[in-house]
Amino acid sequence: MTEFSGLKLAQPILRAIADEGYTTPTPIQGKSIPPLLKGRDLLGVAQTGTGKTAAFALPLLHRLAENAGKPFSRQPRALILAPTRELAAQIGDSLRSYGRHLRLRSAVVFGGTSSRPQIRALAQGVHVLVATPGRLLDLMNQRHLRLDAVEVFILDEADRMLDMGFIRDVRKIAAALSQRRQTVLFSATMPKSVQSLADGLLRDPVRVEAAPAATTVEKVDQRVLFVAKDKKRALLSKLLADKDLERVLIFTRTKHGADRVAKHLHNCGIRSDAIHGNKAQNARQRALRGFRSGHIRALVATDIAARGIDVEGVTHVINFELPNEPESYVHRIGRTARAGATGIAISFCDHDERAYLRDIEKTIRQQVPVIEDHPYHVAEIAHYRGTAKGRPQRNKRPSQGKGPSQGKGQRRRNSRRPRRTAGLAA
Ligand code: AMP
Repeated sequence: MTEFSGLKLAQPILRAIADEGYTTPTPIQGKSIPPLLKGRDLLGVAQTGTGKTAAFALPLLHRLAENAGKPFSRQPRALILAPTRELAAQIGDSLRSYGRHLRLRSAVVFGGTSSRPQIRALAQGVHVLVATPGRLLDLMNQRHLRLDAVEVFILDEADRMLDMGFIRDVRKIAAALSQRRQTVLFSATMPKSVQSLADGLLRDPVRVEAAPAATTVEKVDQRVLFVAKDKKRALLSKLLADKDLERVLIFTRTKHGADRVAKHLHNCGIRSDAIHGNKAQNARQRALRGFRSGHIRALVATDIAARGIDVEGVTHVINFELPNEPESYVHRIGRTARAGATGIAISFCDHDERAYLRDIEKTIRQQVPVIEDHPYHVAEIAHYRGTAKGRPQRNKRPSQGKGPSQGKGQRRRNSRRPRRTAGLAA
């Protein structure tokens, strides 16, 4: 599929897509939209950044627009479940954008904020409801809505939903739905737990998969810097002295760590903020708005908080701490290579993180080039890098590490972008 016009979407939807500036469907859209328009159930394996939201949102809007009518009070016709508030809010924004030429109403409900406006919106009636599981159940229990008129049920980021402990809530919600419905489940990964959830919810689903994660990884220019734990903050502010790092998403492992890093940057005069689960909803939204508008240059986030955040033009992702799950690494760096763009990912690796780096490199099936040209380089970590039990590597992959011995492809890429990494030198 090469053009949106080839997909049988209603004209007002095609117009909205053109307004967004999309010209070609992404692979996951090309594969998902036709079966969804036919009413099939669908199991999608795709992560954020693949265009998965439009993959389920466009056919949904098409179906609802066919016989829109006035929405019923407290009885949505479509339900989209998302694990986090940010993702729910983003899906809500996407629906509004893609549905801007349609007369459809949608609402987003999530916890951590007053339920009164949400209850009001439901009473007035919405066609599509986007929700996080906890708040949705609360509203159902208080009889502010029923799910028996739901024709389309979409579960986004199912793996994260289970990771966050929402399985019982999801089952309760699914039990309240009518049997006669179309069901769509998207997940970045497909462990057994997600597969068994899918088996229980979907009927004869079409299975579609986005290009494997390696494709996203391919588009990101990755680097690793070996540094002692207590020098990471100094190294970070040093990097940020380079103005090429325009819109930077920084990852830490803990909420506390995120706050500390943001504070350090703030003290260095760098406009920054932190976003994590302990922050009030409006503080998170404010930080995101600031980051989107460019007012905040560096946003420090934990994995869960950053999941699903869709900010265009992230020039750099910095892993202040490496994640212990290689998949999180792929998710993180994917933030800087959204929908075809390229980006740069810089990882700090201290002595204790070598094993994480090794697992990551195994997963992405490539070695991350090392930058040694910075004032805090720890040669010892580089020396011990990536070996099974911390033994030094000998006679193994001579291409490892520094620029001069990198593979051809990598050299070519470096020469196209000399400035971005040049700023790292002391
Ligand atoms: P998602 O994977 O749904 O989070 O989407 C990732 C990003 O890709 C979002 O910023 C979308 O606006 C953008 N996007 C989605 N579909 C397309 C498309 N067909 N062409 C260009 N950008 C797109």
